[in-house]
Amino acid sequence: MTSICNKSCEHQHGNIGIHEVSSTPIAVNSAFVDYFGEKMRLSTFTSDADINPLPLNWSASASTARGPVVVSKYKDGMTKHNAIGAHAGPYSIYHALSIASKQLDSMHEPDYTNAHPPHNFPQQPQWSTPGKIVTMDPFGHMAPWIYGDLAKKENVDIKPTMSITKAILSIPEIKEEVKRGNLVPDGKIVLNDEGEMACTKIAVDPVWHLPGVAERLNITEDELRKALFQDTNGMYPELISRPDIKVFCPPIGGITAYIFGDPDNLPKEDKRLAVRVHDECSGSDVFLSDICSCRCYLIFGLVEAAKEAQKGGNGLVCYFRKEGRCLGEVTKYLVYNARKRGGDTADEYFHRTECIAGVKDARFQELMPDILHWLGITKIDRMLSMSNMKHDAIVDSGITIDERVEIPDYLLPADSRVEIDAKIAAGYFTNGHVYTTDELKKVEGRKWEGL
Ligand SMILES: [Zn+2]
Repeated sequence: MTSICNKSCEHQHGNIGIHEVSSTPIAVNSAFVDYFGEKMRLSTFTSDADINPLPLNWSASASTARGPVVVSKYKDGMTKHNAIGAHAGPYSIYHALSIASKQLDSMHEPDYTNAHPPHNFPQQPQWSTPGKIVTMDPFGHMAPWIYGDLAKKENVDIKPTMSITKAILSIPEIKEEVKRGNLVPDGKIVLNDEGEMACTKIAVDPVWHLPGVAERLNITEDELRKALFQDTNGMYPELISRPDIKVFCPPIGGITAYIFGDPDNLPKEDKRLAVRVHDECSGSDVFLSDICSCRCYLIFGLVEAAKEAQKGGNGLVCYFRKEGRCLGEVTKYLVYNARKRGGDTADEYFHRTECIAGVKDARFQELMPDILHWLGITKIDRMLSMSNMKHDAIVDSGITIDERVEIPDYLLPADSRVEIDAKIAAGYFTNGHVYTTDELKKVEGRKWEGL
């Protein structure tokens, strides 16, 4: 068994952040090793004499008092970084490939001229309310502009973890909705007969405040650090060796928030708001695979979001990179095969996933509402989701939900009934029929021959 030591630890173990309390010794490494003839520092330790992390007070309300997130170890970052991990989530690996292949200079200075947000999102009280936002940096969209001078002075890289732009969406089903008369162009939200929609969109990379994430999951920070360290096969030794650093930039996908209507209205209680929280399903969202209802619900969410914006309120679609309930597409297709070959009935839907993955869901919706709090949202008039997990996470975080809106039956592909009926039986919201176990056995998917 190991436990995490801090600087004042009574165990005299020098540079090593983990100390041993069982009889089995653990491998001990030096903070510096020779690697292909070069000196390379494997990790830093709280007890290192030269560490001097830039102050980062997570819940401070003034950006200067809060301080920047510094995760890069380039320049003087090795001693001054105050976050574990790497910038840009999973794309950190492609950054490394660009450097390895000598296409990118590791000392490249980004030129952010004209890259600033086209809309000013004013600071909300939620940004500095302890525990309200723990998975994104509330100042991440302004980092180069707020902390640019500090970055120069301290000789560290400070990069944005959010960015904001405007876009026009051109989606075939939306054009159909306009043709059908279900959506009427207004020249502002729905621009024309082609169904083009105007929006403001926000990209968010994950930045975790470890004590806050642990609290959300109802575990200790030590438990969280150890599981992250061990389950990633030691990818981030500072999770153990730097308990003084409280922020972690994990290698996972982020969020895109699509806002319809004036973003300034989002925090206003007297303005109506329709929200779709959508978890990525590339097979359906992009390629229109008909085994699930994901794209249909996404389109329904976009239509309803646009309608609410046209009425003077807002629509919001938050798209989370959480493929296959955060179990990934490889697991997902294995489950599909097991379903198709084993008799694809709704009563077995979750069981098939559990057989392969061990869990049926790894999305941890309790981490999801942060983006809503960042936008200043305190109530949702129309929640365009049937998920009880999303509903409960949002309500438990202090945002009220007035109405829950289920996807109309006519939008569902026939083969997706297995999924949706199993979910309803497991607790998803419906105004319609909740199937019994016997009835779920009769809800069958497409017959696959020769699979
Ligand atoms: Zn899907």
